[in-house]
Amino acid sequence: MRCGNLDVVPEFPDIVVYVEALEKRILGQRFLRVLISAPYLLRTVTPPLESVEGKKVVQFRRLGKRICIGFEDDLWLVLHLMIAGRLHWYEKRSAKKRGLAIFEFDNGTLTLTEAGSRKRASLHVVSGEAGLKALDPGGEDVLQMDLDRFAALLQSENHTLKRSLTDPHLFSGIGNAYSDEILFAARLSPLTLTQKLTPAEVERLFTVTRNQLLEWAERLRIETKDKFPEKVTAFREGMAVHGRYGQPCPRCDAKIQRIRYATNETNYCPRCQTSGRLLADRSLSRLLRKDWPKTAEELE
Ligand SMILES: [Zn+2]
Repeated sequence: MRCGNLDVVPEFPDIVVYVEALEKRILGQRFLRVLISAPYLLRTVTPPLESVEGKKVVQFRRLGKRICIGFEDDLWLVLHLMIAGRLHWYEKRSAKKRGLAIFEFDNGTLTLTEAGSRKRASLHVVSGEAGLKALDPGGEDVLQMDLDRFAALLQSENHTLKRSLTDPHLFSGIGNAYSDEILFAARLSPLTLTQKLTPAEVERLFTVTRNQLLEWAERLRIETKDKFPEKVTAFREGMAVHGRYGQPCPRCDAKIQRIRYATNETNYCPRCQTSGRLLADRSLSRLLRKDWPKTAEELE
């Protein structure tokens, strides 16, 4: 999805709300059959997709930015929505629904659509923990770690804060949008190198990261209510800096600035985060090449 001129991949808060909405609807339900209309979507051959048919949904999991639906016999459907993939839920079963994939359950139909022509969404069928592990980029959940672990991971290499926070091998489920919000809330520059942070700054970042992820998940929950989250990754009105280039900072009124690289854009407030300095794109090019997140599509 384009959000202003930003690519948006669903991140932790969005995925959490998706998983909760799916839990409410299909946990315990039997999976009847699936219709795949886009061959690129399915990335695995064994176990065959048909092996999941007839099985009940017994659990869910989030794996980085992927949604995992667990079935009887430890079979899993693992969905990555990437930028333009979206899920939709219909109470009634119907063969007339459109989408790349149509999943029919006892009590309704789940469809997956992908806007545009990028064809990046993916579906894997895997078996057991080993199958899931093979798809796990390895990043850890900030909500499940203590400060020492956070500091160790963050400072395991000396990269920019922007890159380390969004590195799916370090932290799970943090992408371009929420990392902007986290760094704003922590009053830290996206370009600060992780090993230059003081212990107090690391602690502040740890607290703020957890709070932002929890707060946004809660906001999305309230927004979604009992509906299926159709607009989970639409532009977020309440964001302070992300997607707000040129608009006033909600804290100090300075103009929100941006750093553009490839298809990504990072937004920050120069007064709150970089001591008034504007981070010019051109002079940053070397740093950006070495120490900046790759494009959203390459991240996982
Ligand atoms: Zn500001």
